[in-house]
Amino acid sequence: MKIVTKECVKCGKSTKVELSDARYRMYTSGALIQSLGLDRFTSETLISGMCFDCQEKVFNRPAPGREGSFGKEVGCCPVCDCDLWEKDYIGVTDESVPLYQCPSCRSLMNPDGEEVELPLAEINAIKAARRLMGV
Ligand SMILES: [Zn+2]
Ligand SMILES: [Zn+2]
Repeated sequence: MKIVTKECVKCGKSTKVELSDARYRMYTSGALIQSLGLDRFTSETLISGMCFDCQEKVFNRPAPGREGSFGKEVGCCPVCDCDLWEKDYIGVTDESVPLYQCPSCRSLMNPDGEEVELPLAEINAIKAARRLMGV
């Protein structure tokens, strides 16, 4: 086992990546990171240095072992194509349509995967109503 330490370009936190000797040799000989057979998060850390926390925010996908906090995948953003999850649920409209909000581009999506456009005041009212109900 060899340890590679990468510093996050966004928050400065360092992440230690453990590589088997064989993988480490490939890594240091300049092999494509994608060919090392690592998970997406570990690969991204080796490529850009980004830590798992920042990757969760930037790519809106759960780090290995943290899937529970994201809930089920509900589709992908109709605008920027990033994955949306149960955690991105913001509440229901006046017509009782459940809405999900993309954390990257702030677009709204209904459960059919269609973009929903609402004025900001209405979006805020939906979120506020949800907070009041405590759900
Ligand atoms: Zn970071
Ligand atoms: Zn989006």
